[in-house]
Amino acid sequence: MCKLCDEGKPQDHTDLLRDSRRDFLKAAATTGVAAGGLSLFGARPAAAKDKDKNKEDDDPPDDTGKPGRRYIIRGGAVMTMDPSMPHRGEFAKADVLVEGKKIVAVGPNLPVAGAAQIDATGRIVMPGFIDTHHHQFETVLRSFLADGVLINDGSGSPSGSTTYFEFILLTFAPVYRPQDVYINELFGGLSQLDAGVTTVHDVSQIHHSPQHSDAAIQALFDTGRRAAFGYFESAGAAILHTNPGNQYPQDAPRIKKQWFSSSDQLVTMIMGGEVYLGNQSTDDSWTIGRNLDLQIAAHILSPFGIRPTFDLLAAGTGGNGHIGMGPDNLFIHTTGMSDTAWQRVKDVGAQVSIAFPIEMNMRHGMPPIIRMQMMGMEPSLSTDVECTMTADFFTQMRAAMNLQRMIVNQMTLDKPNGNQNLPDPRNWELPQSAMTSNDNPGFPYWPKPPAGIPAPLTTRDVLRYATMNGAKGLRLDTKTGSLTPGKEADIIILDATAINVAPLNQVPGAVVSLMDRTNVETVIVAGKIRKWKGELLDVDVPHLRKQLEASRDYVFNKAGVAQDLFSSQ
Ligand SMILES: [Zn+2]
Repeated sequence: MCKLCDEGKPQDHTDLLRDSRRDFLKAAATTGVAAGGLSLFGARPAAAKDKDKNKEDDDPPDDTGKPGRRYIIRGGAVMTMDPSMPHRGEFAKADVLVEGKKIVAVGPNLPVAGAAQIDATGRIVMPGFIDTHHHQFETVLRSFLADGVLINDGSGSPSGSTTYFEFILLTFAPVYRPQDVYINELFGGLSQLDAGVTTVHDVSQIHHSPQHSDAAIQALFDTGRRAAFGYFESAGAAILHTNPGNQYPQDAPRIKKQWFSSSDQLVTMIMGGEVYLGNQSTDDSWTIGRNLDLQIAAHILSPFGIRPTFDLLAAGTGGNGHIGMGPDNLFIHTTGMSDTAWQRVKDVGAQVSIAFPIEMNMRHGMPPIIRMQMMGMEPSLSTDVECTMTADFFTQMRAAMNLQRMIVNQMTLDKPNGNQNLPDPRNWELPQSAMTSNDNPGFPYWPKPPAGIPAPLTTRDVLRYATMNGAKGLRLDTKTGSLTPGKEADIIILDATAINVAPLNQVPGAVVSLMDRTNVETVIVAGKIRKWKGELLDVDVPHLRKQLEASRDYVFNKAGVAQDLFSSQ
């Protein structure tokens, strides 16, 4: 806490950050990956304790997530996202029994004695959301690039001038220190945990040195949610050659050995294998990743000139001539790729992550949802960057549904006119020459959908993308993604009695169409309750926010970018 900052006289907190970095490095050295008890984490906020002082029933069960510890979530509307379970895994009123880290049973009126009880009356109980691509190191840059596109387009417009490549990658990213990486990753992760996102693939492209890598990984462990650490390049700095400590990608074996020797932990590792860094880098990163038996992820988008490179990977002749795509690949965006490459993506069983709102906003190209549906494929969802868009999953699901349905619905309306105007976005509505013909007697103009296009996405579809597909996308589907007995208990409890949701009439619809992060009441990761009735447990958010703000001040200052709360970008 800083009194002077509170009084509006901002102070330099770099000492504080240095301390916290020393703390986490010391903790990592002495206790290994299970570092706990860092000074960053306080007890439950005093205010919350005071509020509940006279209501002991409102405290969470003790020692959740520990071996043998049992509790039962009673009487909620349970949406397991596992259609192989009875009632397609959907129960209007049921219980979920958790023991230790795992879900033991799901069903109505479970006869259980001796377990602590959580009353879920009026609540929706479902698996936590899974984000398959998020750059958490950019948390201090939140909303900086709310209007920007990927690359300066020469237009002089606000969106085309302050852009992702020039500012986020080339200006801000190179100045990050390990302690900046740590607090950005931690704060961004806790924020998503608070919003019910229990698993993330953190695409940390901020590996200017092994210390930067360790800071990112330590933060993922300290966040206490399920995470795949994505070991990507040293963004920006690799282009500017300001990263003498850069050890990407050859530090991967050291990282895997030091941090990921156990598979029974919340954090796993993915190898970043960007294919726009040159053939040698592709060769090196994909070969190292495959030798370590890691999944290999890459951003794939046509504005970066990737289509021909992707075609080579599809042909098995990528990199210096021998790299090909496989079931171990996770491709991000995948906008603007060829028919041939898409067929190969499907044939090898590679995973695809779509960041709908970001792709729509930042000119990545059309999110390839219609193509995937027409090929019998499905994506997972990803939030990408908070410099431009929120990382909550209600936004992701609604954006996915809205974009897909906008296309399909317009195609349906255009069908009697031969889809003649669809390729021209300036004329996206019905053409001026259209006959508003009536092939559905009794209604003025309401054509049947044309043959061969997908049905509009439903709320269940995007919920599946946001949960099970995410688990599959990160090879975690034996552990999470649904409330299937035997899986680890990554559970969110959503308040359907709240003023923005009640009365509850349809569960998938309430979650996707009405809810936001304020409805995320309780969050559980591997059986451990992390958020309880609206508040993160064991996290001192004001303290962490001060550190984040200090990091923000450092990064902007070092990058030479003025802080301007009303910048026109
Ligand atoms: Zn990305």
